[in-house]
Amino acid sequence: MTTVIVGGGIIGAAAAYFLAERRETNVLVLERAQLGSGTTKGGLGGIRHQFVDELDVRLSRLAMSFWRVFDDITGARHDFHQRGYLFIANTDGGLEQLRASMPLYEKVGVNVEMVGRVSVAELVRGMRVDDVVGGRFGAEDGYGDPPQALAGFAAFAQLAGVQIKERTNVREIMRSGDRVTGVRTDDDEIAADRVLLATGCWTAPLAATAGVAVPIWPYRRSIMESQPIPQLSRAPMVIEWESGFHFRPKGNAVRFAMPNLTTDGGIEKGPPGPPSAYPGDYVPLDVPASLEPWVRARAAWRHPLFADVQIRSSWSCYYEMTPDDHPIVGPVPGVEGLFIAAGFSGHGFMHAPAIAQLVVEQMLDGRTRALDISDLSLERFQTGRRPFTATVL
Ligand SMILES: Cc1cc2nc3c(=O)[nH]c(=O)nc-3n(C[C@H](O)[C@H](O)[C@H](O)COP(=O)(O)OP(=O)(O)OC[C@H]3O[C@@H](n4cnc5c(N)ncnc54)[C@H](O)[C@@H]3O)c2cc1C
Repeated sequence: MTTVIVGGGIIGAAAAYFLAERRETNVLVLERAQLGSGTTKGGLGGIRHQFVDELDVRLSRLAMSFWRVFDDITGARHDFHQRGYLFIANTDGGLEQLRASMPLYEKVGVNVEMVGRVSVAELVRGMRVDDVVGGRFGAEDGYGDPPQALAGFAAFAQLAGVQIKERTNVREIMRSGDRVTGVRTDDDEIAADRVLLATGCWTAPLAATAGVAVPIWPYRRSIMESQPIPQLSRAPMVIEWESGFHFRPKGNAVRFAMPNLTTDGGIEKGPPGPPSAYPGDYVPLDVPASLEPWVRARAAWRHPLFADVQIRSSWSCYYEMTPDDHPIVGPVPGVEGLFIAAGFSGHGFMHAPAIAQLVVEQMLDGRTRALDISDLSLERFQTGRRPFTATVL
């Protein structure tokens, strides 16, 4: 059997790892640029259990059990730290929204607690809390380094015999009747029994070449990195619930993530709605000029250590959105041998080991064993089923 994975982001690399780990031979990863050059290179690396849908929490648990032992299993180094996620609320309404998911965490057995202002201040020393009514802290959450993790997955897979071809653009998915038969690149035709589309926000146009409609579109988001602020180097991820502003340490520096701003200066945490056609517009990936003053002001308000913060670098990348902010994972109905794992809507890094393990189970065994992910099937958009609550962080 020949398996082609299209896309060398964290999902494609993790899928290659799990195929290698299952001793699958004849596996080929095709990446049109370089490994990690898509959304994966731009992510913040956050890993949290604090979702509102049960499947997401369970995916996080499965993924976290892997992230904890990533270095031992892959033999690679990953800058992973389980330092927690701290959500803080400025309003009673915000605090109630945070509290609403607590029964879910208790049900799944994840260590998350509501915390008062005093505990918030203890969790991040010196942080301004006089405007904070309370928060929610997940001690099992943390953060990692997406490009490092990707490199670890890819190296393991390659050493086990997976072929990785960069600078190889896949133009078309080939099918014969209701079966996939391979892919056509700019230079070649490659026959394959199984094709996995791990092509992030670029999945819709490629899937369309096989006659498959996939509702995934790109949405620009940005990150900024500060000068070294070593006093915060062990801080948890901190998220302002109402504004969407969040930050985490990265080495000695701090990385800030923020919502987009509308032309009238309002906050836009996610896209206003799906585009009228897919994939939607690829707006340029420059960092909007309005963001830095907003970030500097929010940061300075939140912590005195950010009073004169310097933004040393900044970048934008595309979130890979779907209409319900959940990925599309699994076999494509009606096209035997074709699989998708894409559209992670801002949380594809954290779930990568879980999703890759599960989609590989679907490919090799015809069903998943570790967790039922049938709700993530493309079928939900074909039939109008809506199993999830849409949320963007
Ligand atoms: C600002 C920002 C912050 C984020 N923060 C977090 C976070 O804290 N935690 C988290 O879990 N996630 C976060 N994410 C989301 C996360 O980074 C993504 O969900 C994840 O990287 C998606 O990985 P992927 O492999 O699906 O896609 P990608 O990394 O985009 O990989 C897809 C690859 O496919 C290749 N490709 C596309 N079309 C073709 C083709 N036709 N032929 C060959 N190759 C092709 C592309 O070149 C690309 O390399 C964030 C994202 C952004 C933008």
